[in-house]
Amino acid sequence: MLDTALTSTQRRTALEAMSGEEGLDILVVGGGVTGAGIALDAAARGLRTGIVEMGDWASGTSSWSSKLVHGGLRYLYQLDFALVHEALTERGRLLTTTAPHLVKAQPFLWPLKHHYERSYSAVGVGLYDALAIAGARGHQTVPVQKHLGRKGTRALAPALDPAKLVGAIRFYDARVDDSRLVIDLVRTAVGLGAYAANRTWVTDFLKDDHGSVAGAVVTDLETGESHEIRAAQTINATGVWTEATQDLATDAGGLKVLASKGIHIVVPKEAIDAETGIFLRTEKSVLFIIPWQRYWVIGTTDTPWEQDVAKPVATAADVDYVLDHANEVLARPLTRADIIGVYAGLRPLLQPQLRPGAEAASTKVSREHTVTRVAPGLTAIAGGKLTTYRVMAADAVDHALGEAGAHAH
Ligand SMILES: Cc1cc2nc3c(=O)[nH]c(=O)nc-3n(C[C@H](O)[C@H](O)[C@H](O)COP(=O)(O)OP(=O)(O)OC[C@H]3O[C@@H](n4cnc5c(N)ncnc54)[C@H](O)[C@@H]3O)c2cc1C
Repeated sequence: MLDTALTSTQRRTALEAMSGEEGLDILVVGGGVTGAGIALDAAARGLRTGIVEMGDWASGTSSWSSKLVHGGLRYLYQLDFALVHEALTERGRLLTTTAPHLVKAQPFLWPLKHHYERSYSAVGVGLYDALAIAGARGHQTVPVQKHLGRKGTRALAPALDPAKLVGAIRFYDARVDDSRLVIDLVRTAVGLGAYAANRTWVTDFLKDDHGSVAGAVVTDLETGESHEIRAAQTINATGVWTEATQDLATDAGGLKVLASKGIHIVVPKEAIDAETGIFLRTEKSVLFIIPWQRYWVIGTTDTPWEQDVAKPVATAADVDYVLDHANEVLARPLTRADIIGVYAGLRPLLQPQLRPGAEAASTKVSREHTVTRVAPGLTAIAGGKLTTYRVMAADAVDHALGEAGAHAH
């Protein structure tokens, strides 16, 4: 990735350039991983590109994740091989080519409570490793699974209660500093000629004489000034704000996106004596205990959130859920006194049905994300995850340009 500073002068110049006469080919609304990836993809195709973000880069969902670059082992148990293969292919690409400075291989121990779990778990992890190698065209980008008995498990993770397990499987995924990934994507896009302005809020869309979206009206939250940014195509990449953003253009059609809350607790490194991360299956999903600098990040949960999407918060019940599941395997149970931080984020949960008035013919439903034409000149994309941002970005730009345009760029 290129290293381009994002200074306040650069921001001011970018806003001036974006609101100039010439107009943009593509305006991206939303500076999370989805929007940042789109801006990079569009700039790399040589398109005159701009990206605006109302808060700071990655201030939405993209800085409150589990910080994993992963295929999603749990999806294997839902038999969604294609989804896992796609994400593992992206994991390999990030580890080796696009962001090896940010994405690092991360070992996890999967503690086994009963002997009979071993063969069942080994098949899943074996398939996971095989799909990763297939995605990297035969290369092994992280070590494959290793089976451990009680002694081997204890050597790697003394914190695990030996009375509660018969051994473990060690497997690899990868971790990333999520907000740095977003900032690097924006900086790389800027290095390729894109204009980028944070603290720039889209308050309305511009329409041409035929009613097509022709850019956006933005408020510079540093100065309070309003600007018009003209663009041939605008892409809405505003995550859990997707519906609020598309409502500015039309009340018919577009994506339906709900918010699902996930929380993490943060405890100091000393609270858990282990050299690797820990992976647990729960009755609802999975729980990760992830080494993070001088801390452990533990999560996550999955509950509907119907309040202000700008301010998700953890409840006492969320914290109890995380503590209870972590304590199922730890010799010294964690208590609230161990917790030094809690954070919550909202998954943009794509609903299978589009909003009434949406054109099915102009919609591409992928495994995890969907891209659709909300109105002429306005495309929306939502869903997916950090790991697959590049696939989402390519789909969004292709869709916005249309078949002929995508072929030309
Ligand atoms: C708890 C949790 C854990 C997760 N863990 C992982 C993981 O480990 N690995 C993984 O791959 N994925 C993970 N994910 C998924 C991943 O984090 C999200 O899919 C991804 O961050 C969504 O990015 P986004 O850009 O679509 O949305 P966001 O990051 O929310 O970006 C949207 C942006 O749009 C901006 N915006 C909204 N309205 C406007 C407007 N009118 N004008 C200008 N800007 C606007 C917002 O400020 C926001 O910054 C996790 C998600 C959660 C919630």
